[in-house]
Amino acid sequence: MSLDFLDKRFNTKEKEAFCRELSSGKLSHAYIVEGEEGFGKTFFAYYAAAGILCTGKSKPCGSCGSCKKLRQNFHPDLFVYGPEKDSSLITVGMVRDIKKTVFLLPNESDKKVYIIKDGHKMNTQAQNALLKFFEEPPNSTVFFILTDKKESLLPTVISRGRIITLYPTAKSDIIAWLEEKYPRKDNTEIVSAAGMAEGSPGKALTLLEKKYTAIKNDACEFASFIFSGTEFETASFFKLKRYDRTKAKEFLSATITLTDDIFRAKQKYPRCALLPFDKAAEYAALTTETKLMFIAEEAVRAYESINANTNINLTLTCFASRVNDIKR
Ligand SMILES: [Zn+2]
Repeated sequence: MSLDFLDKRFNTKEKEAFCRELSSGKLSHAYIVEGEEGFGKTFFAYYAAAGILCTGKSKPCGSCGSCKKLRQNFHPDLFVYGPEKDSSLITVGMVRDIKKTVFLLPNESDKKVYIIKDGHKMNTQAQNALLKFFEEPPNSTVFFILTDKKESLLPTVISRGRIITLYPTAKSDIIAWLEEKYPRKDNTEIVSAAGMAEGSPGKALTLLEKKYTAIKNDACEFASFIFSGTEFETASFFKLKRYDRTKAKEFLSATITLTDDIFRAKQKYPRCALLPFDKAAEYAALTTETKLMFIAEEAVRAYESINANTNINLTLTCFASRVNDIKR
């Protein structure tokens, strides 16, 4: 779990409503948690499972033995199922597997919780088999069927579960969360990921991590050209990349971070945000502090130009040619 599922900041209303239901003792034996990809269905289900299995007072307390086991994703009364690969269907085999445990008493708690991820990927046979459990529900079990395509579930399945709908998160909340998670990351990257995520914290996180990896690799490749490549390699680097304005700015801010890594390696003060330390040390030995300052200043200047709507290709080509000066 990449984020602490006991965190109540997303889907707060739905979590609070579930806790009220839990304390009133009116739990349903099946819930259908619906919401688009990245809206937090899995975290919601884990949160709810923690509430059900918790032995503390204010459920989920986060500190009882049961909550701790859930945090480590190892609780003998929690069963999580889903498709084996993203593309595959969930077949009746899963239901047969569930059948092995569903009528047994819970191991440690009063209840057993079953989470079925990507519930819409259950084929008809699997759904029909699952319905048997809903028709004669064992007292001690609670099912959570997670789906972003509720219409792919059989009406009979939907009608037997209580539906919990999750909604998009405000962009400002996603930004605040990402800033907390990545305190050193460039704010423009965070705002851009949150902006593209359409209310989905999960999607924003994926975008940020994916994009960051690509840009990080680009900046490292560019550094290898600056410090140990030819002038031609440095000069032609951007022709192949075809960055748009956002990517160009991300690249330049990654380059600034990277020069800082090398600068610190030079001062034998390791704190590598981007480059592995041995790489930073290797480049540090090949250059001077003045040259590093020069690259960073040129990157800042190019960043500001691009931010002020100048021609992207021209600015980057000019940046590459200025940086090439350090080779002379
Ligand atoms: Zn607890």
